[in-house]
Amino acid sequence: MALIVQKYGGTSVGTTERIRAVAKRILETQQAGNRVVAVVSAMSGVTDALIRLAREVSPRPTERELDVLLATGEQTTIALTAMAINALGGVAISLTGAQAGIVTDGIHTKAKISNIEPTEIIRLLDEGKIVIVAGFQGKTSSGDITTLGRGGSDLTAIAIAAVLQADMCEIYTDVDGVFTCDPRIVPNARKIEVISYDEMLEMASSGSKVMQSRSVEFAKKFHVEFVVRNSFNNKPGTLVTEEKPSMEEVVVRGISVERNQAKITIQSVPDRPGIAAKIFRVIAAAHIIVDMIVQNVGIDGLTDISFTVNRDELEKLGHLLDPTVREIGAKGVIIQSGVAKLSVVGIGMRSHSGVAARLFDALSKGGINIQMISTSEIKIAVIIDEERIVEAARLAHDAFGLGEGS
Ligand code: ADP
Ligand code: ASP
Ligand code: MG
Repeated sequence: MALIVQKYGGTSVGTTERIRAVAKRILETQQAGNRVVAVVSAMSGVTDALIRLAREVSPRPTERELDVLLATGEQTTIALTAMAINALGGVAISLTGAQAGIVTDGIHTKAKISNIEPTEIIRLLDEGKIVIVAGFQGKTSSGDITTLGRGGSDLTAIAIAAVLQADMCEIYTDVDGVFTCDPRIVPNARKIEVISYDEMLEMASSGSKVMQSRSVEFAKKFHVEFVVRNSFNNKPGTLVTEEKPSMEEVVVRGISVERNQAKITIQSVPDRPGIAAKIFRVIAAAHIIVDMIVQNVGIDGLTDISFTVNRDELEKLGHLLDPTVREIGAKGVIIQSGVAKLSVVGIGMRSHSGVAARLFDALSKGGINIQMISTSEIKIAVIIDEERIVEAARLAHDAFGLGEGS
C-alpha cells in the first residue's frame, strides 16, 4: 500500500463546493488502495482577512497573538474537509499542526520546524482513516501556536512526506504546474515538465510563489521528490526532483518576478572593517531578510551601501536604521520603494556564457534601466522600476525563447 501526501492550496479549497471536490479526490485516492494524508490551507483570502482584522485592533499586532489568530484559517478548512469526506462515506479525522506533532522554534509568524512526532498520524492511518492536517502551523515545545511564514502549507506537506517517507507528495494548486514564468504575468509561459530542486528553489525564493521557498529547501535537504499539479484537472503537473546531467542543456529554466521591494542606500558610510557587520547585525537581530547588497568603491574613506528588503519590512527597519546610521557616522539613508526584482534562473548557466549580456540587451531594447545586479551560479537578478516589471518579464521571456511555440 502506497502512502501519499497531498496538499491543497487556498484556491483549491476556496469555497465549500471546492472543498467537496477536494474531498472526493482525497477519498478516491484512498479507494485506489493508498494511505492518504492531506494537508490543507486556509480558504483563499482568509489569511489576508485575518491579518486585516488584526491591524484594525493594533498597528503592530503582537506576533504570538497573530499566530493564534492566523492558525484559525487552516483549522476551519481541516474540519470542513474532514466533514465533506465523511459525508461521502469515507472516514477522515482532522488534526491541527500541534495535534499532528509538528514542533517548531518560537519565532512567531515565521517559525522553523524543529521536528515532527508523527505517532498520532501513523496511528490514525493504521486504523484506515484519512488524516487531514492543518497546513502552515505548529507548536513550540512549550505548547504555543506558531505559523511557518506565508505559503507555509507547502512546508507542512513536504515535511510530513519526509518524516513518513511517503511514496508520493502532490502539491495541488490552481495552475497546471510550475511555468517558465507566472502565467498571470507572461500569458504564453510554458509548463515545465521536470525541474531540479536548485532551480525551483531559486525561482521560489526570487518571487515564483507557486511554492514556498523554505518548503523547497526542505525537500532538497531530505530528498523529497514532489509534483505540482492542478486540483481542477487531471494533468500530470511538474516533477521537482534531483538534478540530472541532461538538465544542464537548458540554459534558462524560468523567470521570476518579485514586486514589493524596497531599496535602501546608506550614504557616506566610513569605509573601514566592521561597519557593514554592525549595520547588518542589527537588521539580522530583528529577523529582517536582506536580499541584494551592493557596496560602492570607496572614495576618500567613504562609501555607499545599498541593499533591498521586502517593502513590508520598511516600518520595522526604519526604527532600527536611524540609531545605527548615527552611531556609525554615516551621512543619511535614502529609502526607495516602488522597485521590483527580475530573476533569470537555470542550472545551464554554469556551463553557458552570455546569459547576462542577453538579459541586459533585452532590457535595454525596452529602455528599462537596471538599478542593481546580482548573480549566483544559476541566477542573474536585476532591480528595476516596479512599473516596468511586467514588460521586463515579457522581454526577458522572449529573449530566452521560453514561450509557448518559440
Ligand atoms: P496555493 O494557494 O495553491 O498555494 P499559490 O497562489 O500560493 O497557490 O500559488 C499558485 C500561484 O502561483 C499561481 O496561481 C500563479 O499565479 C503563481 N505563480 C507564480 N510564479 C509561477 C510559476 N513560475 N509557475 C506557476 N505559477 C506561478
Ligand atoms: N494560509 C497561509 C497563507 O495564506 C498558508 C498557505 O496558504 O500555505 O499564507
Ligand atoms: Mg501557496
